[in-house]
Amino acid sequence: MTGAASPDQAVGGLTEMLAGSPPRSDALGFYLHVPFCAARCHYCSFNTAPLEDGALARYLGALHRELDLLAELPWAPRVRIATVFLGGGTPSLLEADQLAAVLDRLRARFDVAADAEVTVECNPESVTRAKLAGYRAAGVTRVSLGVQSLDDAVLPRLGRLHDAGGARAAFAAAREAGVANVSVDLMYGLPGLDVAGFARAVEAVLAWGPEHLSAYGLTLDAGSLWGAAGVAGLPPEDTVVGQYWALARAAARRGLEHYEISNYARPGFRSLHNQVYWRAAEYLAAGPGACGFVGALRYANVKATPRYGEALEAGRLPVDSWEELTPRQRLGERLILGLRTSDGVPRAWLDERLAGDAALARRVGDWRARELLVDAAGRVRLTEAGFLLSDALFVDLL
Ligand code: SF4
Repeated sequence: MTGAASPDQAVGGLTEMLAGSPPRSDALGFYLHVPFCAARCHYCSFNTAPLEDGALARYLGALHRELDLLAELPWAPRVRIATVFLGGGTPSLLEADQLAAVLDRLRARFDVAADAEVTVECNPESVTRAKLAGYRAAGVTRVSLGVQSLDDAVLPRLGRLHDAGGARAAFAAAREAGVANVSVDLMYGLPGLDVAGFARAVEAVLAWGPEHLSAYGLTLDAGSLWGAAGVAGLPPEDTVVGQYWALARAAARRGLEHYEISNYARPGFRSLHNQVYWRAAEYLAAGPGACGFVGALRYANVKATPRYGEALEAGRLPVDSWEELTPRQRLGERLILGLRTSDGVPRAWLDERLAGDAALARRVGDWRARELLVDAAGRVRLTEAGFLLSDALFVDLL
């Protein structure tokens, strides 16, 4: 069942729906969306908002109210928050005291585990050693740094506000502030970037010694400037594939495990919060456009930051739409999310999906024959070559 909120429903119906959908687990993730960016990157289709006068303060007031309302759900006192992720947007536009106030409010309203992983996405130009030390004092345990490229010709084309030197300085600032768990984001498939150039950036970033590395191939959604207007100079597919393999091999040489299609980690440093998503486990979410998943209910908040604030001003949760997953949808989702990881999924899940679907069973058989999909110890997982081609399989599995 899916739906969208009318104003009347938003007053009470959706709150009742969330209230009537208690989590199956007593340990949840919590995603907090901070929508503001100093400028819009040309490839970006995330839910962002311009940083206008007073907007950040109004948003923070609304976010605090949302945490209060979520904590009033009847099952909220029973859940423990095991991971917190501040994403955006650019969460590092928050001053340390503003971020501390958000985390204090969360801890005041929810049982946040003392050892919770608390990640903040940061852009290099918006952090300093002092700000990151303040974040750490506020309880942040992990910083995810949006480097994307170390090519000073490519970065301005992307609309990024930092240069390679700024990215290096931000990483050093995180270390000087005592952040022991730093993840770096890179992008490949970028216009103007060949395999050798990307490989140099990977080597340079790995030499910094991050605990975690995420690398995403460029995708152009309609919501982005490039998606709408087009962009010149996109590399051919063999360049993108070459970049994927350059990264996979360099990360392996440095001892990072390729534990998810786009993610690499030193042993013991997998992202706990993102694993909540990949395990199709439950999480609460707050902030404009944030999406949560509790019980069988997936919900999404209103995207526009002013409307988000108005809903909370009126004393109601800003939920905009929801979807109750059928068992079949949940199985498809658990398969696709789990197969994104090197742990894969129980073989029984795949067998259940293939039952009665001879065409799909033949396609999966072909993947096994080509060693894109392998079986071991009652589980099935994609190989690195399988990761690269996984989109085609995922479409079939849904
Ligand atoms: S990519 Fe990140 S920093 Fe750039 S506009 Fe999107 S959310 Fe903001």
